[in-house]
Amino acid sequence: MKFKFLGTGAAEGFPAMYCGCAYCEAARKSGGKDWRTRSQAMIDEDFLIDYPSDSFIHAMQYRLRMDSVKYIFVTHSHLDHFAPEDATMRGLAFAHNIREPLVTVYGNEAVKKVYDRAHEIMIGKIKDGYTYRLLKAYEPVQAGEYTVIPLPVRHDPNENCYIFVIRKGGRTILYGNDTGMLYEEVFEYLKEQKIYFDMVSLDCTMVENPVSDEGSHMGVDGVVRVKARLLENKNADGRTKFFANHFSHNGNPTQERLEKLLLPHGIMPAYDGLEVEL
Ligand SMILES: [Zn+2]
Ligand SMILES: [Zn+2]
Ligand SMILES: [Zn+2]
Repeated sequence: MKFKFLGTGAAEGFPAMYCGCAYCEAARKSGGKDWRTRSQAMIDEDFLIDYPSDSFIHAMQYRLRMDSVKYIFVTHSHLDHFAPEDATMRGLAFAHNIREPLVTVYGNEAVKKVYDRAHEIMIGKIKDGYTYRLLKAYEPVQAGEYTVIPLPVRHDPNENCYIFVIRKGGRTILYGNDTGMLYEEVFEYLKEQKIYFDMVSLDCTMVENPVSDEGSHMGVDGVVRVKARLLENKNADGRTKFFANHFSHNGNPTQERLEKLLLPHGIMPAYDGLEVEL
């Protein structure tokens, strides 16, 4: 399985387009790994997690043909995770020789509302190229060779936000963005099911800024504690690759600084374009 981080920023991206804070001003100059587009990840050529407005720039930046994607799993409806207007360009005069006739979008009820609006404005046969499947917490779904289990997370009380256990070809990933501290019942579930992760990616929006365990995001401290719990519960071991992801400009998320904070804990800060072979 080849996992690629396409975007690793929080909602505003880094540098944030409207922001004059010292961190954004410095990142505007430094560029490279310090620039973070909105969260999206790709597995092999056919599986996407989230679909922000930066999907277009990701396709260009990494020379991807998004028409090879069959499955889009959406964590929740916030605009940095789901902005499906560009999906209306998949067909007719806008796109030729499309590889996959049908894309299935998976998500919660709130994501479906946003999906329905985009689907409504699709013209002609483009509409037939999409279908929607509603996810339920703890109910595994089969998407081709992938088995995906959505797990509930604290983030936005107005909708059922998910993280995903993703399995393919004997490898298993836990991908979570936009989460507060994981629920005790999620730790228990993973322990009972004896799920072993080859790779784990966790929300580190707050970096070093203060956050409570009841909050809607985690920072370095939360990510370190989740890692410890997963190790203790034997969901991970020394071979598991740990990543932190989804960094806000408020945490000054330059790659150099994040590596200093996270590498001593055996956690790699993700950056845009980082590929992981599993
Ligand atoms: Zn987000
Ligand atoms: Zn800023
Ligand atoms: Zn969010």
